[in-house]
Amino acid sequence: MSVTLDTAFFRRFLARATQVFVAEAAHLTDLDAAIGDADHGANLKRGFTSAGRVIADEAPATPGALLTAVGMHLTNTVGGASGPLYGTVLRRMGKVLGEDPVVEPPALGKALTAAVASVRRLGDSAPGDATMVDALAPAAEAYTSALADGGDVVAALDAAARAAHQGAEATVPLQARRGRASYLGERSIGHQDPGAASSAMLITALYEATDTGLPEVFEGAEAEEEATSEGETAAAPATQSPQPAAGEKADVKKEPKENGRVGVVLVSHSRDVAASTADLAKALVGTGDPAPVAAAGGLPDGGIGTSAELIRRAIADVDEGKGVVVLCDMGSAVLTVKEILADPAGNGVPEDLRIADAPFVEGAVAALVTASVGGDADMVTAATDDARGYRKV
Ligand code: ADP
Ligand code: MG
Repeated sequence: MSVTLDTAFFRRFLARATQVFVAEAAHLTDLDAAIGDADHGANLKRGFTSAGRVIADEAPATPGALLTAVGMHLTNTVGGASGPLYGTVLRRMGKVLGEDPVVEPPALGKALTAAVASVRRLGDSAPGDATMVDALAPAAEAYTSALADGGDVVAALDAAARAAHQGAEATVPLQARRGRASYLGERSIGHQDPGAASSAMLITALYEATDTGLPEVFEGAEAEEEATSEGETAAAPATQSPQPAAGEKADVKKEPKENGRVGVVLVSHSRDVAASTADLAKALVGTGDPAPVAAAGGLPDGGIGTSAELIRRAIADVDEGKGVVVLCDMGSAVLTVKEILADPAGNGVPEDLRIADAPFVEGAVAALVTASVGGDADMVTAATDDARGYRKV
């Protein structure tokens, strides 16, 4: 038995993945509760169910377009690290598959291999770090070698799914070296990495999509999404960039302002931390005339997390044509900004956008003080480097 890797196949894959993430959300969240912040299942459930609506509306015509659309959606809507990470997996696959209406089996192998490389690059992670890479990398390798050994695509995907599950199991004795679980140090040993577990489910869904009897749409998606999207809503503080209206694109085609300065964007998991840090930095600008600074903290509903949309909006707000420097706290904040930086044009942000490698508060103050006195983007970045090197003992 073989199968055609057409758009219908990839729709079945996404529908099946959504169904599994909905069914397994509690299990994935339990895994994340042990070594993280107990949101992995909820993150994937929300991201994939709402992606289902996007692809129903847009109905991308090719496998590449479909995977790209869902990948972008995940980066945009999942507030945790897994959003930009799975976002880059699907977008990278979509890019490698290009515009072909039917994917040849070796091309899928290339797409999977490239996806693994993109996660490793974005997350600065390697096999053995106890992350999703430990499931995805063996899956891509098993798929490629099964094809090379003469297996058909069904056998190769079966091998990939098995390898992914083994890889996920193999994270149990490992110490986490990336992501939130790494904060636990040796205490992360003995727990399965939640992202590796969900990656094994994702690759298994790819194998299961070889069953042409599976539906192309997950019917439970709408109801599930409504049940999970009721976040707490907090009033936005004055310095938070306003939440964009649905579908609204940030306006980035700004003319450089005469006397424009470098803009500073502060991305924290917390709306309050980002806003307060902006207030602190402004208060410490001696001239009393701070350069543009915008806070992009938390999720649009005020919850803890990272929102690509709020970040893009904040960047547009502070852009005076002289460059924008972004300070981030950690995890998904860093990963989401790096994903935006990887494709400035596609994200509608200015080319001269930089991420500062510096502690959040100290870096924010150094950046804003330097930008306020007219320092260029190189000088602002150098000031944040100094903040990183400043010893306190
Ligand atoms: P968060 O950690 O922001 O709460 P999730 O709980 O949704 O996000 O996802 C956590 C998973 O993401 C981890 O189990 C791990 O597999 C993966 N992950 C986190 N950081 C990295 C990284 N730097 N590289 C690769 N994978 C990572
Ligand atoms: Mg988590």
